[in-house]
Amino acid sequence: MKWYQMDVDVVEQKLHVTTKQGLSDKQVDKRRRQDGENRLASEERTSRWLIFLKQFQDFMVLVLLAATLIAGMLGEYVDAIAIIIIVLVNGILGYFQEQRAEKSLDKLKEMAAPVATVLRDGTWQKVLSQDLVAGDVVRVSSGDRVPADIRVTQANHLETEESALTGESLPVMKHASPISKDQLEAQDQVNMGFMNTIVTRGNGTGIVVGTGMRTVMGQIASLMTQTKKTTTPLEHKLAELGKILIAVALLLTALVVLAGVYQGHSVYNMFLAGVSLAVAAIPEGLPAIVTVALSLGVQRMIKKKAIVRKLSAVETLGCASVICSDKTGTMTENKMTVKEVFLNHKTLDVTGEGYKAKGDIYLEQDKVDRNFPNLEQMFLYGMVCNNASLMVKKGHYYVDGDPTDGALLVAARKLDMSHQLQDNYRIIREMPFDSERKRMSVVVEDDNKMRFLITKGAPEVLLPRSAYVMNEHGRKQMQRDDQQSIERAIDNMAEKALRTLAIGMKPLAKNTPLDSVELENDLSFIGLYGMMDPPRQEVKSAIAESREAGIKSVMITGDHEKTARAIARELNLLPEDGMVLDGAQLNAMSIEELRDVIDQVYVFARVTPEHKLKIVEAFQEEGHIVAMTGDGVNDAPAIKASDIGISMGYSGTDVTKEASSLILMDDNFATIKSAIIEGRNIYENIRKFIRYLLASNVGEILVMLLAMLLAMPLPLVPVQILWVNLVTDGLPAMALGLDQPENDVTRRGPRNPKEGIFARGLGFQVISRGFLIGIAALTAFMMAFQGDPDQLIYAQTITFTTLVMAQLIHVFDCRSEHSIFARNPFENRFLVLAVLSSILLLLVVIYWSPLQPIFHTTALGVRDWVLVLGLSVIPSVLFGFSKK
Ligand code: ATP
Repeated sequence: MKWYQMDVDVVEQKLHVTTKQGLSDKQVDKRRRQDGENRLASEERTSRWLIFLKQFQDFMVLVLLAATLIAGMLGEYVDAIAIIIIVLVNGILGYFQEQRAEKSLDKLKEMAAPVATVLRDGTWQKVLSQDLVAGDVVRVSSGDRVPADIRVTQANHLETEESALTGESLPVMKHASPISKDQLEAQDQVNMGFMNTIVTRGNGTGIVVGTGMRTVMGQIASLMTQTKKTTTPLEHKLAELGKILIAVALLLTALVVLAGVYQGHSVYNMFLAGVSLAVAAIPEGLPAIVTVALSLGVQRMIKKKAIVRKLSAVETLGCASVICSDKTGTMTENKMTVKEVFLNHKTLDVTGEGYKAKGDIYLEQDKVDRNFPNLEQMFLYGMVCNNASLMVKKGHYYVDGDPTDGALLVAARKLDMSHQLQDNYRIIREMPFDSERKRMSVVVEDDNKMRFLITKGAPEVLLPRSAYVMNEHGRKQMQRDDQQSIERAIDNMAEKALRTLAIGMKPLAKNTPLDSVELENDLSFIGLYGMMDPPRQEVKSAIAESREAGIKSVMITGDHEKTARAIARELNLLPEDGMVLDGAQLNAMSIEELRDVIDQVYVFARVTPEHKLKIVEAFQEEGHIVAMTGDGVNDAPAIKASDIGISMGYSGTDVTKEASSLILMDDNFATIKSAIIEGRNIYENIRKFIRYLLASNVGEILVMLLAMLLAMPLPLVPVQILWVNLVTDGLPAMALGLDQPENDVTRRGPRNPKEGIFARGLGFQVISRGFLIGIAALTAFMMAFQGDPDQLIYAQTITFTTLVMAQLIHVFDCRSEHSIFARNPFENRFLVLAVLSSILLLLVVIYWSPLQPIFHTTALGVRDWVLVLGLSVIPSVLFGFSKK
């Protein structure tokens, strides 16, 4: 017998579990040991050896190795071995860089891993989906991915989209009854939920019957091919730039070799020098360092509670000019407390804070109790038409489920109403809440078998559906003045920044069809709740800081316009002349009309997720780079369309998380701002080390080229060239990737996404500094050499030292857009350490006698150092005076 053919209790028996209690931890442990993790077999990893070997794949490195081999055969053992060791060390550095990048990407994947809601030992909890085992009782709701193959045990309008499995994109309605037919295909097994399919509507529970590769998806996955590794636009741009740089470097090197040979140097000597120069000058490590910088930045973001799902998002983050954010939960705490109740045309005040059931209800100064007409009924219905539960952990109250629902439970407790009262009502049908419908309804039967409907939702949605209103004397037809009085109450609540919710009911005959579109019409309006959802403390300053950074913050909410306006004012988000648009106005506007005003709009109220797409498009057409948040399944299209899709780590659904490029672990607006600033910083750091590496290379080529053109001896020998490349390009460049932002990074305004790598003066900085570094090294050579062949080794040592020192000083210049004097050089500890270790390596090569013959060096005296340092500071300091 197949799972879909079994009754739920048979499934329970087979898997030794009950849907009331779930599995015990012990059972879970045992089964996990038996069956392994609930994961599809992932792709094969590239072996470490391959990654290591890849470091030597580069064409010029291969040529260098071949040339070294020839040198070795000709008897130049010392040079040959030295070159090979340097190339090896370079390869090892590259290997570690790549490993590090890969590890942090893995860590990211882990952090973004999906979670499932599971019942274990009688309590609902969230666990990583990969920890599920057969027999686990799981709950899914709209926007989730089904975490494993499940036999549905309860379905409330549960629909799933199974195109990943069947190719069919229309959602399939699920139920819980057994199906007797045999040999059914997956799409006909409508009481089963399949791993990785998406819940598009409703909610339900089920028992896990298959995990990992034993799911229907697993069978398909075993046939599927691996996913490709993608590169970010910047990595791509740099790879392109790399090709040009290689061509230029090769050309210049060829020129050096030709000039050298023309001036009488031996072909062999010039060839080895040329190849070494090419290896040094080609920034082969650039893409790898960029990846490292991106992933290190990503790790810093994780510390600030933002998980980047796509590396490319880091670059785009720095360009963001608008943040469109949900209000509830992102700008506010999502901790609702009922503060006011409106019924019988009277407003009652509710005291108490948060989810603690401490507080009372007053009509003006007088405390009221359950006997206040309709109050008990209103609160009772609020408890029954409800999906949340109130929990206590270590004396701390929290809500499991929707905070709006939670607030209703807390309010009822303030009237000493026990949640057990809910058990007197049997729920026959539930129409869940979603942001589109803006309401939730249940059909219930009481102890006397009387049926009725309870509906709660946005007042503007419920009011037009209410034909009656309840007052002290019972039910009566809704009159115009009733309606006006309710509307006034809504406005009053909203102006106090309260979130409004209406509740109504309707008696039903036994035979009323439950799927009729009329079901939620002709309601009897009972009352209104006004809830407080306090703004998050840190959001106000985050909005101000964003504004200063040239980023506009926009609030998008399903709440009432006045509520939204009041909260936006509290947060200083809405300027005096700022506009508020609501869903109805948005509907009436064409995209062009919206474009015309959108720069003045700060708040969108009473909108549905569909509107978000229009908002994103209008902003984008106005030239903005838009970051857009979302949590529900319907938000996914807008998140996808935006430049930076942001989802909520805590309250978000799997589908939005998958569509997004950034996940906020704490659902907090302030985190978006930090991530954007961090994104800017990462990009700036990448610019810093591009500037550093390229200027160094220009200097290296220039000193060689000019010396050859001027008919001088080689100012540097091949090992020295390679050594310069190793000590200056490795650690200091990496440390620049860890640099702190320059003070004005936050004030610079968003970057133009179209700007090239060399924009904002970078090209000039590279050429000017590179040129000066080359000239400084050549001057050092000329001053030391003075045409005396006996001084050659001494002069080469001086040139070598000047080149290294000039670059190590220049690295501090690269930290600022302004000048080397603009920043405290000791601020970046890593850089100071990297530079000190490079200097140490330099000193070892110059002063340790066993290394002197290998590196063709000789010890330098104090006067030599004065010359070296004097020349080395010029390239960086010269421009320091000319700028602000
Ligand atoms: P956001 O600010 O994140 O867009 P929101 O909470 O303001 O979200 P929705 O969740 O779409 O917007 O809620 C819109 C309205 O629907 C609320 O103002 C409230 O009147 C009503 N509502 C919210 N939650 C529920 C619920 N659980 N049951 C019934 N009605 C609800």
